[in-house]
Amino acid sequence: MRTEQVRAALITNFNNVSYLTGFTGDDSYLFITQKDSILITDQRYTTQLEEECPALELQVRAPGVAMADAVADVVTASRERQVLVESNSLTIGVHASLAESMPLVELVRCTELVEALRIVKDADEVSAIRRAVQQAERAFQVVRAGLRGAQTERDVAFALEHQIRLFGGKGCSFPAIVAVGTRAALPHARPTTRCIGESAFVLIDWGACESRYMSDLTRMLVTTKIPAKFEKFYNTVLQAQKAGIAAIRPGVAMEDIDRAARTVIEQAGLGKRFGHGLGHGIGLDIHENPRLTANQKQLLAPGMVVTVEPGVYLPGWGGIRIEDDVLVTEDGHEVLTSLGKELSDTVVTIS
Ligand code: ZN
Ligand code: ZN
Repeated sequence: MRTEQVRAALITNFNNVSYLTGFTGDDSYLFITQKDSILITDQRYTTQLEEECPALELQVRAPGVAMADAVADVVTASRERQVLVESNSLTIGVHASLAESMPLVELVRCTELVEALRIVKDADEVSAIRRAVQQAERAFQVVRAGLRGAQTERDVAFALEHQIRLFGGKGCSFPAIVAVGTRAALPHARPTTRCIGESAFVLIDWGACESRYMSDLTRMLVTTKIPAKFEKFYNTVLQAQKAGIAAIRPGVAMEDIDRAARTVIEQAGLGKRFGHGLGHGIGLDIHENPRLTANQKQLLAPGMVVTVEPGVYLPGWGGIRIEDDVLVTEDGHEVLTSLGKELSDTVVTIS
């Protein structure tokens, strides 16, 4: 706020509100000035707020009072004439109603106001991500051990979600991707009724959500003798992934991590088959900053948590991706995920 030289801000992205207050509900905005923080909420949340944020000042909107009018009351009482608003979260409609409800206040658009804080995780956040990783890994191990050829992609996705919940997670961090054979050529394949036994391999990309924090992993499973082509591509992707992870330490530009992994895939002649960035931050959102992609000059810093997930995709054949979650530490990195990923780890016996 000091950088923007504006003395007040209205936080409308619910994950940003949660990050700043600890409140886990939604439909609430946070108004921040030099002196106060006021949560503009409604009566559904007052009991929850007493538990989660007992010290937070509230403006409880009565039924029938529009959000924009409740915001206008709070802003008017503060006497602030300029308010930062989050242009990545405000819809055109909400922006228009806010502008209409307080015509004398200038809404100053900004981006990354809270995201710039969220990019570096504190110890509690890292602990929550570790738990989310553990739940995802345990769920995977159970599902892997019971894998059957007659199970559909959808069955496996459901089984992962079920196991994540049994292990204490709130659910999946995103709808799991289970992609058999040629379906794996689609980086964001949606599970279908294709069966595990219909092809030699399956790509599984899944994660857990715990205390609102996310994990995100990808593993390949081979249900037959390892096909020669699979082995060649898998080894390339694995070498690329290890090269990317090895490059992670504070002070390295994000694009250089992407480059370290991408070079391995390019040298294998598969550069055109790797059509997405190397990785992304995880936290309250499944995709957040930092972005490990080309043209990202920003430097890694301790406390950032990123995925490293190179892939190669060949339409008509399938795809291979390997994804781990990595914490940037003071002197390098720590891989938070621990599921085996050597070629031999992909082999699974199905019944
Ligand atoms: Zn993923
Ligand atoms: Zn990912």
